[in-house]
Amino acid sequence: MPDIIVRLKEANIIGRGGAEFPAHQKWAAVRDATAKAKYVICNASEREPAVFKDFHILSHEPEKVFAGLTLAMTTVGATEGIFNLNAEYAQKLKETFSTLIAKAKGEGCAIRIFEEFPSYIGGEETALLNAIEGRRCEPRLRPPFPTEQGLYGCPTLIHNVETLYDIACVSDGTFEGKRFYSISGAVEHTGVFHLPSSLTALQVLTETGNLPEGDFFAQLGGGGSGAVFNRTQLETERVRGAGAIIVHRCDEDARGLVLSWLEFFQRESCGKCTPCREGTYQLVRLMEDSDAIPWERMTPIFDVLEKTSFCALGRSVPLPVQSYYRNVFQRQS
Ligand code: SF4
Repeated sequence: MPDIIVRLKEANIIGRGGAEFPAHQKWAAVRDATAKAKYVICNASEREPAVFKDFHILSHEPEKVFAGLTLAMTTVGATEGIFNLNAEYAQKLKETFSTLIAKAKGEGCAIRIFEEFPSYIGGEETALLNAIEGRRCEPRLRPPFPTEQGLYGCPTLIHNVETLYDIACVSDGTFEGKRFYSISGAVEHTGVFHLPSSLTALQVLTETGNLPEGDFFAQLGGGGSGAVFNRTQLETERVRGAGAIIVHRCDEDARGLVLSWLEFFQRESCGKCTPCREGTYQLVRLMEDSDAIPWERMTPIFDVLEKTSFCALGRSVPLPVQSYYRNVFQRQS
């Protein structure tokens, strides 16, 4: 049997938290690093709107996630494993986690829970490292990357819940090239569905009995940073990022939708950099001061956010709004 890192590469296991970075590259970097301590973190923050598949996995397959975590720890030589757990999930999964942490301890893997800093940015890898170290929960400059200098300056492997689940499946021979889709919005069956990652968004909606009648559009990836596509585009678009599909009717209040995206980013901006802190504030003010959507007045602010924000949160603010404008709004006008 080939080395597990080779098998992760062959199975094309990528990060399912949103970044889609190849898992084997992170594993090799941490395994090959020389340090007196190494860490593996499972990130179960899941704070993006309309993304709820990690809780589904932790509720139904917690053993698999722990199997992925302990395999990662033993492979890279980690001294400790940490579960960054959404506070709501921690409450609901308390007993399951106690049992699995005790089992892992018996197998030589020390794992503890860190109850997350409750914010969207708290799930960003380097902001999470700061929070665990007791610092302000805001992103760090990269490089160095967490695999080089992560928690307490030591090599650290950070994976999302679904990624560790996939890793355990590769290890036990049950990986089938599927991913978990969180489906919500104007659909018949809101929920989490495990289907091939090769499907287009329209195929996923059809397979799950969620294809709406009449015209609609959907945001793919996550309810905050995901791009918006019209029905025709959904015939070829695959679902990226954190795997959410949020379906909207074409007669939905456009202004309300755009405002909800901008308010989300304003609320979740950590305030570290001026473009994002001030830009998201100004965008919401522009919307509140207008009866219509002020597309043209927002464009220069979007440009600044995209080009100068410190982290991906600020850079992704324009994506849902501008893709909605381009792919849906303009075509309806
Ligand atoms: Fe914080 Fe926003 Fe700047 Fe990211 S882009 S560091 S979230 S203020």
